[in-house]
Amino acid sequence: MGRVYNFSAGPAVLPEEVLMEAAAEMLDYNGTGMSVMEMSHRSKAYEQIITTAEKDLRDLMDIPDNYKVLFLQGGASQQFAMIPMNLMKNKKAAYIVTGQWAKKAYQEAKLYGDAVEVASSADKTFSYIPDCSDLPIPEDADYVYICENNTIYGTKFWQLPDTKGKTLVADVSSCFLSEPVDVTKYGVIYGGVQKNIGPAGVVICIIREDLITEDVLPGTPTMLRYKIHADNGSMYNTPPAYGIYICGKVFQWLKKRGGLGAMKEYNEKKAKVLYDFLDESKLFCGTVEKKDRSLMNVPFVTGSEELDAKFVKEAKAAGFENLKGHRTVGGMRASIYNAMPIEGVEKLVAFMKEFETRNA
Ligand SMILES: *Cc1c(COP(=O)(O)O)cnc(C)c1O
Repeated sequence: MGRVYNFSAGPAVLPEEVLMEAAAEMLDYNGTGMSVMEMSHRSKAYEQIITTAEKDLRDLMDIPDNYKVLFLQGGASQQFAMIPMNLMKNKKAAYIVTGQWAKKAYQEAKLYGDAVEVASSADKTFSYIPDCSDLPIPEDADYVYICENNTIYGTKFWQLPDTKGKTLVADVSSCFLSEPVDVTKYGVIYGGVQKNIGPAGVVICIIREDLITEDVLPGTPTMLRYKIHADNGSMYNTPPAYGIYICGKVFQWLKKRGGLGAMKEYNEKKAKVLYDFLDESKLFCGTVEKKDRSLMNVPFVTGSEELDAKFVKEAKAAGFENLKGHRTVGGMRASIYNAMPIEGVEKLVAFMKEFETRNA
């Protein structure tokens, strides 16, 4: 069987060129006679891999010198704890709850201090982004937390909240490198890489230097201190070496494609194919308020659970994988990350049209 169109929300599709390069280098990386998996992380060859990866990421995102780039482990979920442990100096933080991942982060933060929910879209099953222009941010809040793209519900902050001068912390797992970002607007930008960049297990954390201090909550484990990782260039212990190598290849792939501006254009074009169809279809419809639609995750329904199940099954047989919606919301979801070619979306829409005619 050949490659399918993989619409998984994560781990997700990676660029074929990257996978082929990694395959070609599997047994002998660059004349070293060994795989990157078998190599000391202190070796010259590996040092060059991680240094180049960081440099390419800095170029792509235009990351200022006063921000550190950390390659960490534990997935995005580990950051739910690391953020309060390291940043809650006043033991207070504001959380905007726009979906399950934001909620999990909020609940985790409550273990460490006073996490305050300052806005939520739970009233309409997280189908929109609340107005964040004048939120009741506590005076002594250490930071304001958002999940910028809500992977499960398919919403995206197109405008960042007014944090009233507080540090903004953002989980960008599912929109990482999908568009240009102004890093200076954030204190911390972090994401698990398995949605848009690489293999699960690596989490990239871009953090402003003044937020990296020894002053962390008592009992914070060594491995969960940003300062330890920053002081050791992400090499305090063995980093997720192979994963970082694949991330580095994706960064180079993105640079070759013209960087994040070009990527955004492509992603907009790609998402439009699907959204335009959803807007005119008599069978399928999107579940999110138009103004808040994500370019990466597109949830939709037919209105009948039976038809939804039939669609997912027939789509799979036709080579469109992982279209079933998240177990908590049902329906369908097409995740169309950077590496999903526009042909994949066009063919999916053609299949949806044909399904609609057959089931009218
Ligand atoms: C997938 C996801 C997570 C969880 O990532 P893990 O690496 O499994 O911990 C957190 N936040 C968002 C926005 C996600 O999409």
